[in-house]
Amino acid sequence: MKAIAKTRPEAGIEIIDMKEPSPGAHEVVYSLGAAAICGSDLTMYRWDNWAPGTVKPLPVVLGHEMSGTVVAVGKGVEAFKPGDRISAETHISCGKCWYCRNDRSHVCSNMVLFGHNVNGCFSEFGLINERAVWKIESDVPLELAAMMEPLGVAMRGAEAVDLQDQPVAIIGAGPIGQMVAAVASTRGAQNIIVIEPCPGRRKLALEVGADVAIDPGAEDPVRAILELTDGIGVEVVIDCSGSVDAIIDSIRYTRTCGHLVMIGNPHVPITIDGLRDIVHKELHIQGHFGRRIWQTWGRTEAFALKYPEKLARIATARYPLIRGHEAFEKALDGTQGKILLLPS
Ligand SMILES: [Zn+2]
Ligand SMILES: [Zn+2]
Repeated sequence: MKAIAKTRPEAGIEIIDMKEPSPGAHEVVYSLGAAAICGSDLTMYRWDNWAPGTVKPLPVVLGHEMSGTVVAVGKGVEAFKPGDRISAETHISCGKCWYCRNDRSHVCSNMVLFGHNVNGCFSEFGLINERAVWKIESDVPLELAAMMEPLGVAMRGAEAVDLQDQPVAIIGAGPIGQMVAAVASTRGAQNIIVIEPCPGRRKLALEVGADVAIDPGAEDPVRAILELTDGIGVEVVIDCSGSVDAIIDSIRYTRTCGHLVMIGNPHVPITIDGLRDIVHKELHIQGHFGRRIWQTWGRTEAFALKYPEKLARIATARYPLIRGHEAFEKALDGTQGKILLLPS
């Protein structure tokens, strides 16, 4: 079978031939329904930032956002059987550490990442530990189910603070920012303002739920947002960009006593003027890493069922796995929503 893999510690990917997996104890083998390219896959492609220290051992099959159908299960697997439709959690937990024992397995101390430390899902058949398998009980289509993992990240960002009747700013309208706009629009937010340099992504964010889209290259987001909010600013900022400058700017247009929710990953240190702004403005800053297991997953599946058109709109291109190079190049150009990979 074909797979998209990282074989060498340098930029790029390879389409490789490999043997179909067979399940060991507590493992599930599935045939791929659909997979989606994540921003973290692009970091691994470029082999910059955290990738060289985190992605090991090589070679590794990339990909962690997926849906599929179980074809075989190993010894000891009782919760899944051939024919079950599944998606998967990227954070594969140990089940034994303090966090796992205290209902925080999404931040397990011994976390193994699907598609980073063990083979991922960019292959026609894949294998995953049963601890990371989510059984799809509804008839949500497999293409949408492949987007539930990133949707879960967006959902945690959009659910972190009550958005009812509140103005919200979303920094970055890549796929996660688009999903945050989509979720926020279903949670009663009064004015959803997206900040995004790419025109196609601004347009898409408006289509799935944003009310206003600001081009930070054409106007100063601080001034624009203060103008839109009678000079008071927004109650909630949800950063999906990890852009240090944009995050520092956001402190100026967040209301006093407001919230900064961070789900993007900054790759360089952030210096905030003496942190005084945070104290004097009584800002609430919170980060979210992945999905609560399995609380978030039930809600992502419900969202995919209730708003399939919003989620489908965010999938802007589809490629067969064997055209993985083209798919990655398309994703790297920074103009798209989610890019889906389908078995050949
Ligand atoms: Zn991802
Ligand atoms: Zn653990």
